Amino acid sequence: MYPRDAALLRRVGDLKDGKWHGRVTVGVRDDGKPDRRHIERKTEAEVIDAVRALEKQRDAGKVKKPGRAWTVEKWLTHWFENIAAPSVRYKAANAYRTAVYRHLVPNLGAHRIDKIEPEHFEKLYAKMRAAGLKAGTAHQVHRTARTAFGEALRRGHIVRNPVELAKAPRIEETDIEPFEADEIGQLLVTALSKRNGVRFVLALALGTRQGETIGLKWSRLDKRNKALRIAKQLQRQTWKHGCDDPHACGATYHKTTPCKEGCKRHHRKPCPPPCPPGCTSHARWCPKRHGGGLVEVDVKSRAGRRGIVLADRLYDLLIAHEEQQTKERELAGSEWHEGAGCSPSRTGSRSTHAATSTTGRRFSTRPGCGRLGCTTHGTPPRPCCSCLACPSEQSWNSWAGRTPAWRSATST
Ligand SMILES: [Zn+2]
Ligand SMILES: [Zn+2]
Ligand SMILES: [Zn+2]
Repeated sequence: MYPRDAALLRRVGDLKDGKWHGRVTVGVRDDGKPDRRHIERKTEAEVIDAVRALEKQRDAGKVKKPGRAWTVEKWLTHWFENIAAPSVRYKAANAYRTAVYRHLVPNLGAHRIDKIEPEHFEKLYAKMRAAGLKAGTAHQVHRTARTAFGEALRRGHIVRNPVELAKAPRIEETDIEPFEADEIGQLLVTALSKRNGVRFVLALALGTRQGETIGLKWSRLDKRNKALRIAKQLQRQTWKHGCDDPHACGATYHKTTPCKEGCKRHHRKPCPPPCPPGCTSHARWCPKRHGGGLVEVDVKSRAGRRGIVLADRLYDLLIAHEEQQTKERELAGSEWHEGAGCSPSRTGSRSTHAATSTTGRRFSTRPGCGRLGCTTHGTPPRPCCSCLACPSEQSWNSWAGRTPAWRSATST
């Protein structure tokens, strides 16, 4: 039944201690010695099968590394801390951290990475959905796990990526209801009646993201060519403790008991759970806090760094806004902080995202993407709120006097 060619017999070896043993050389160990694997089975047929399976894996370059396999917890922690976090952007790292430490490790951490099955992941997604979490959150966990296990596969710790086979929940795409022409008109009137309201007009017309819009600086306005350069954005980052005992530092802010039934404080979002034991959050209140707040970072992608030629009316608005700010500067006198950008506070310091988005919400008239400078729909060439792509585009264009600037955008 099994052809006993000389090579196979040599590999399979003899009957010892009532069991069949086989050995296969699969490569070279880290220390340079040959990596010989030992196989032990009850019958000759089984050992031959196992030897052949291992040889097949070796020939396909898919033999996992020697030694005990990592657990999911150990691998994900190692992957996040040493491989992913140092190489990705701030927000991507945050998303990975949540997926790893809040969902994957507590639920699947004890599995071995070479034994975990796609079904384990699917059960986790179902459990998350049942707990009221959105499909998008489960999807984020899926993408994180797929990337982490992909790296384990590339490094030979596993022979296949189980997450690649798991089915993630479907994300319902919400249709964006674009603004109508008269709504845009209303928005513009309302926006321009506000202090620093010109930023909303810019976001609406240019499709810039929220962080890009409030991060605009006068130095990036080229007056000769009436062009605006988008190179940086403001991003809110979490503060870090600078003290010696982060847990004690946050003592007054730890949440020890869950919210009562019918809690009114968290009406828009589900109530947060109590702090975990040894919680080291609340760095926002640390007297020695560092590294957080509004931070100026590069725009999301290289393609996002762009120059935009402004329509005349938009340019005029910006110039009028600059004049207004000059008056505010004179009024503030020595209190004025220079260099915060086009939409600063009354003393010139940086306005916050919170202030911006709150004002933006007040303007929102339609579900979907009511926020101006919306970060989801702000990526050119999809302008914010898709208002420039809807039938009202015509009227908007006639207001601006030309095609939307993002369409003629040239990278600088
Ligand atoms: Zn806490
Ligand atoms: Zn609550
Ligand atoms: Zn502290």
